[in-house]
Amino acid sequence: MGRLQGRKEREPFVLEHASIATGDEAGTVETDMSILVSADGRIEQVCPTELAYIPSGYHRIDATGKFVAPGLINAHVHLFADGKPLSGGGNTSPRVINGVMKALHSPAGRLLMDARIKKNVSALLNSGVTTIRTLGDIGYEGVRLRDKIDAEEVTGPRILAAGPLLAIPGGHGDPFISLSCTSPEEARRRTRENLDHGVNAIKVAATGGVTDATKVGEAGSPQMTQDEMAAVCDEAHEFGVLVAAHAQSPEGVKAALKAGVDTIEHGSAMDDEIIGLFLDNPRSLRGFSGLDPTLCAGLPLIKLPQDQLGVSDIVRSNSELVVDGMVQGARQGRENGISVGVGTDTGMTFVPQYGTWRELDYMVKYAGFTPAQAFHSATQVNARNLGFSDVTGSVEAGKDADLIVLAEDPVKNLRTLANPQLVIARGKPVWHPEVKHFEDIDHLLDTF
Ligand SMILES: [Zn+2]
Repeated sequence: MGRLQGRKEREPFVLEHASIATGDEAGTVETDMSILVSADGRIEQVCPTELAYIPSGYHRIDATGKFVAPGLINAHVHLFADGKPLSGGGNTSPRVINGVMKALHSPAGRLLMDARIKKNVSALLNSGVTTIRTLGDIGYEGVRLRDKIDAEEVTGPRILAAGPLLAIPGGHGDPFISLSCTSPEEARRRTRENLDHGVNAIKVAATGGVTDATKVGEAGSPQMTQDEMAAVCDEAHEFGVLVAAHAQSPEGVKAALKAGVDTIEHGSAMDDEIIGLFLDNPRSLRGFSGLDPTLCAGLPLIKLPQDQLGVSDIVRSNSELVVDGMVQGARQGRENGISVGVGTDTGMTFVPQYGTWRELDYMVKYAGFTPAQAFHSATQVNARNLGFSDVTGSVEAGKDADLIVLAEDPVKNLRTLANPQLVIARGKPVWHPEVKHFEDIDHLLDTF
């Protein structure tokens, strides 16, 4: 899964005299190393430069003074928006909703969305992210782009695309980015519908959310039932596809874990039963469940002045209800050896596509991670959580060449991740990765 289909041959290359920031939990750096990347985009050899044998025809890149690290993995993105404030939290008339839905799913709307997500995916890639999982799309635009990238028509990250998430009628994500269901049978059918459209990830809404709640208290209140989510997991797991659950309260997290979901998105404070289920979850596909705290989506909503954020009172109040729980969950996850990954919820209010490094920064500042542990989460842990440990997440021979070249050791300065000097996605180099920043948003995010 996730290998490039065509594997077009291109010039093999070697990065010489590099320091490798390995992404292990201790923050190990290996100095003066050579990394050979074969014509089909895989890492061929990793060894001390003095021992490297470079066959002729390899383009040699001097990486003296640079740090080569595994590409970042962002386990929770939305590609339909760019991270400027989403209005949300109000009552929109059914007629307006209908109109918007029609426009979005018209041929012109699809073309527009294809162009927009291509731009957003470039921002992710150019900021060093070589694997993403979309968790809530308008339709199957993420699937379409994934296929173009896999066929090497477009340069981009490896994509796991969920398509529309599954929710109760009027629930989180409904109607714009979800398919609704009212029974386990329907939940199963909807899962099948997404799988038939080619998704390679599934998402359910176990509870209400912050962005689109219409009343205070909706975020975190249980929505899909355990039985409905269990039906989704059964169906998805049969096809080897992992299930992510949006869950923002202990009740919601517990129901989703018992149903067998493979990752919890956002999360909440944990009791012993929840901790036990994360570590040993018999109904999940691999026997454990991971956690993506998505602090990037929560902290700005409670830390920044509301007038600067441009969100409604309902969004603000709901954030106050759930964000502390998300932070506490991240902390407890770390303390209890839960597989805590990195997902930022890009596209949500104040979560630009290019800001993955900030999640690592928040994990350190708010949840007690060391910088090495946070970087480990964004690479090796995420690869494990998403089922990609055999192909990405570390700089090892045999894996895909998903690499970033940095000015500094990320473990010493996480912010260096914001400006990779070179990004390599499955062997394809992006020589001068450039990202358009929203200065006003960056400035506000830098204040806490
Ligand atoms: Zn999300």
